[in-house]
Amino acid sequence: MEKADCVVVGLGPAGAISLRSLALAGAKVVGLDSASFPRYKACGGALSAAAQLYLTEQLPADGWQKAVEDSLEEINVSLLHGDLLQLKAGSPVALLTMREKLDHLLVKEAAAAGGEIREKCACTGVELVKEGAVVHTVSGPILARTVIGCDGALGPVAKSLGIAPAPAGAALEAEVEVPPAVLSEWRSRGYISFGRPAWGYCWVFPKKEVLSCGAGTFRRGRAKLQEALQELLTHCRLTAYPKRLAGHLIPLFNHRRPISKGPVLLAGDAAGLADPLSGEGIANALGSGIIAARQAAAFLNGKITDFNSYQKEIRQKILANLTIAKRLAGLVYSRPGWFYHLLRGNPYL
Ligand SMILES: Cc1cc2nc3c(=O)[nH]c(=O)nc-3n(C[C@H](O)[C@H](O)[C@H](O)COP(=O)(O)OP(=O)(O)OC[C@H]3O[C@@H](n4cnc5c(N)ncnc54)[C@H](O)[C@@H]3O)c2cc1C
Repeated sequence: MEKADCVVVGLGPAGAISLRSLALAGAKVVGLDSASFPRYKACGGALSAAAQLYLTEQLPADGWQKAVEDSLEEINVSLLHGDLLQLKAGSPVALLTMREKLDHLLVKEAAAAGGEIREKCACTGVELVKEGAVVHTVSGPILARTVIGCDGALGPVAKSLGIAPAPAGAALEAEVEVPPAVLSEWRSRGYISFGRPAWGYCWVFPKKEVLSCGAGTFRRGRAKLQEALQELLTHCRLTAYPKRLAGHLIPLFNHRRPISKGPVLLAGDAAGLADPLSGEGIANALGSGIIAARQAAAFLNGKITDFNSYQKEIRQKILANLTIAKRLAGLVYSRPGWFYHLLRGNPYL
């Protein structure tokens, strides 16, 4: 059977960054993905300050900036598409990317660092054995000393280890192909509306060639995302244009859900690390991917013999913030009207 020090399953931001880090640490590491890159991914593509920091720290100088298409310099906020509150920051609130570009760039960086990439190579499950774990793929099994599962919210790694899916919200995105004149009206300007869908918001973010319009809800349960998205498109007069529609789960953490088992670690959406206030998941995918790679390298070097320290580090560096975000989400989304009026009444905004 083929052997590797580590197999990284899934090459989104979590997988690509961990593959790169492990390759740089000198491990024989194979990264596989069921898709081939560049691949489409429904996403608002907003890169928070934390995501930008990880990318800057990890990648060659300014390399990732090539994937940036616009920045949010002004955000118009409303409640149920009513009055607008215009927020302008001294520096961009977020940078905006297309995931096809960003994820492809990260995969290329991982390959350049020495990580072996296998595209169109779906994992079908992981089996724990005495020597480590066997990663079953459509192209045959690989025996790995350790495995990092970065295969998203519904991937097979956690499932095959008997780890229940993370509780999840969901988001639905329409990439709307608007003419250049409409696009220029939105240049560097975003729109966020609270109140519908329940426990979430709608957004419009400008990209180079499309507008990302979406509706997301960040707790379990049905939230009428399609209706909320349609309402957003109607309000912004965007219904007439061609669009690509796709949605996905927003997996949220649960303190009782394990994020490692034996020699297998979970990172990113597979670990349920999306932010319950903003729905943002790229930063924690990168952060957990980096931590997972560091822990896997320590395991391969014999410095640690289990991954209790991974759970601990994720708890300290990521879950602590998500716990606060969850409390804030409770305050904001249980009374979105109060939150909006608080924003409106703030003389500093
Ligand atoms: C509509 C929407 C909008 C969003 N907007 C934002 C945003 O603006 N900003 C933000 O920060 N976050 C956003 N998110 C969340 C963000 O997209 C995710 O949190 C992020 O992609 C997680 O990265 P990841 O690497 O963990 O997983 P993913 O990016 O999902 O990557 C998982 C990879 O695993 C691969 N895979 C799956 N199954 C298998 C298999 N069996 N075998 C091999 N490979 C497999 C997939 O092909 C994929 O490449 C949004 C999510 C949605 C649904």
